[in-house]
Amino acid sequence: LALAGAGVQKLRPYEPGKPVEALERELGISDIIKLASNENPLGPSAAVDAAIAAASQDLARYPDGSGFALKAALAANLEVDTAQITLGNGSNDVLELMARVFLAPGRNAVCSAHAFAVYPLATLAAGAELREVPALAADAAQAYGHDLNAFADYIDDNTGLVFIANPNNPTGTWVDPDALQALLKRVPKRVLVILDEAYCEYQDQSQRPDAVALMREHENLVVTRTFSKVYGLAALRIGYALSNPQVADLLNRVRQPFNNNALALAAAQAALQDQAHVAASVALNDEGMAYFHDSLPALGLSILPSQANFVCVDFARPAQPIYQALLRQGVIVRPLDGYKLPQHLRITIGTPDENRRCVEALKTVLAE
Ligand code: PMP
Repeated sequence: LALAGAGVQKLRPYEPGKPVEALERELGISDIIKLASNENPLGPSAAVDAAIAAASQDLARYPDGSGFALKAALAANLEVDTAQITLGNGSNDVLELMARVFLAPGRNAVCSAHAFAVYPLATLAAGAELREVPALAADAAQAYGHDLNAFADYIDDNTGLVFIANPNNPTGTWVDPDALQALLKRVPKRVLVILDEAYCEYQDQSQRPDAVALMREHENLVVTRTFSKVYGLAALRIGYALSNPQVADLLNRVRQPFNNNALALAAAQAALQDQAHVAASVALNDEGMAYFHDSLPALGLSILPSQANFVCVDFARPAQPIYQALLRQGVIVRPLDGYKLPQHLRITIGTPDENRRCVEALKTVLAE
């Protein structure tokens, strides 16, 4: 065990939500709803079923290790070259590849406090140091969000990566495109800046940076995206990075030869074609977001600003007991102690029925 790197020894494993079936058995209740992992409550496009059925005709063959067809479709849609795309087993996989390639003992990575948990995980696993930029204050407009103006002060000669989640999980906060542009101008070109856009489809598009245009301007910008969220394919594990071709070449050298399975490749391609489903998913999310913004303040709760598919709710007291009480009501949400937000819970926006059940459960729990 002593042979494991010092960074790995310090790691705390990523804690996925408990499976619904396990909780139903543990609590002895049925029809639990899970609003804990920022999944699409509509599921994927109907076109995905046929694509998976077709792809599953040939399970004895290895998948296309180059992801040729999916990359071609992404390149055409996004107006990038296929040589700029790296496919991953979820976008977590490409984040991890970035850390493996560009971090090492003696180097550091910079990210915000309360940023997505995989940044510290990938950084420490690579034996590098994590530098956390304090988040914006609780009373700032973007409470607990990224303070991009402060990032440059944490970057030094040993910095390999800068992680920016836009919108961020678990806060839901987003960055100002001008502040991002200003940071990119200040960061030395040898430092790679990762813009993690896992939730970008849910954003107010008028406030979203044009990541592909920024990438043309700043060769050190890497953009990561996923099919797990608005495309509803979290179970299949598929995401990608956009970068300059030299970075993509390095990532492709270290990735596993078949890191995307055939069903995921086929499903992602089908999902990408159905932009009407994306629009319907975003519209449902907008409706749910408005519902939570109406109902939670009425219960005396405040919500951090969010442009994602979840809300981060401030209970102004330890939230663990509320999380546990919600579980007993059959509603799974996400406690955020690991994110150093012990008074907040993250609630994924579900179907209108699920959202109503969640608010009713909160009402009951707060009255207990
Ligand atoms: N980035 C952020 C900000 C996320 O919240 C998530 C999922 N929780 C991911 C990346 C990774 O998602 P996936 O590996 O499913 O693509």
